[in-house]
Amino acid sequence: MPTASPLELARFPRFPLIEGPTPIQPLARLSQQLGGADVYVKRDDLNGLGGGGNKLRKLEFLVGEAQARGADTIITVGARQSNHARLTAAAAARAGLQCELVLTRLVPRHDDDYAENGNILLDSLFGAHIHDLPGNANALEFAEARAAGLRAQGRNVYVCPLGGSSPVGCLGYAACAAEIVTQAEALGMSFDAVVVPNGSGGMQAGLVAGMTALGRSRATPPIVGYGVYGDAVAAQAATLAKANQTAQLLDPSLRVPDEAVVVDGAHLGEGYGIPTDGMRRAVRLLASTEGLLIDPVYGGKAFAGLLHAIETGVYRTGQRVLFVMTGGLPGLYAYRSAF
Ligand SMILES: *Cc1c(COP(=O)(O)O)cnc(C)c1O
Repeated sequence: MPTASPLELARFPRFPLIEGPTPIQPLARLSQQLGGADVYVKRDDLNGLGGGGNKLRKLEFLVGEAQARGADTIITVGARQSNHARLTAAAAARAGLQCELVLTRLVPRHDDDYAENGNILLDSLFGAHIHDLPGNANALEFAEARAAGLRAQGRNVYVCPLGGSSPVGCLGYAACAAEIVTQAEALGMSFDAVVVPNGSGGMQAGLVAGMTALGRSRATPPIVGYGVYGDAVAAQAATLAKANQTAQLLDPSLRVPDEAVVVDGAHLGEGYGIPTDGMRRAVRLLASTEGLLIDPVYGGKAFAGLLHAIETGVYRTGQRVLFVMTGGLPGLYAYRSAF
């Protein structure tokens, strides 16, 4: 059931995929071991449909929009181990839509687990039709051409962008911003920062747009993103643009200040989907001290960034930092060889 939100999101069509607010939990053992700030997690990995993850919040609005347009088919794009593609396939199954995935071999990993296990195994279980493209292919162009072909046969096709990060998709994380502020108020605490991975940037953009809207009447924490996809300067500009487009949907008079979007690219390593030592350490540390799992492509690198910030005193004793756990567990099985 969609959560009550002060952001007037009820006017946007929404297909229910999540159960309600996800818990905020303290990481007492990890925080004690690190010393310094207290780390909390927002358990967006617990939204369970299709193996769970952050894309479900966006897909509520995306599938809602697709249905409102009378779509019978949804097509989206991503890398071979895309969590977004997997969750689009699951949401489409749930909604009774055909699903096609245009997946590229963008990430230079060629072992069997990467090519066939993890997300890609689940995509086929959900009944999605998979188009397997080389790493340098333009997936969105391919998707649009495929959509045109299907439309010529009388199908009604909804094309969903990379990461589901259209402004409408980002509304899912504007709603999450309201959820976080409401939960923090109920817990009687405030957070000094909310930390997230930045892939296609939609989660961060939505959170920033939501916090900007809420910030007119309440205290809201800054959002700090760690870039995992590519150049951080480009990611910051794209995320700011997306945050403003999302804010426009919430309220045409709303403008997101430039400084509200911060993307740190220092933990990306050699590129998207390429493991780093910091990621391996972060995944192992969270698993072995708290029994919690983050993924190697997004959460692992963002958590490496947070660990670095705590260890270098960016966040101090007595401060509270909220890390959004975004799911992506199937990715761990695809990255067996990286561990
Ligand atoms: C997609 C994804 C992200 C990043 O979200 P964006 O909106 O693309 O920036 C983070 N974590 C996981 C597990 C994801 O699948």
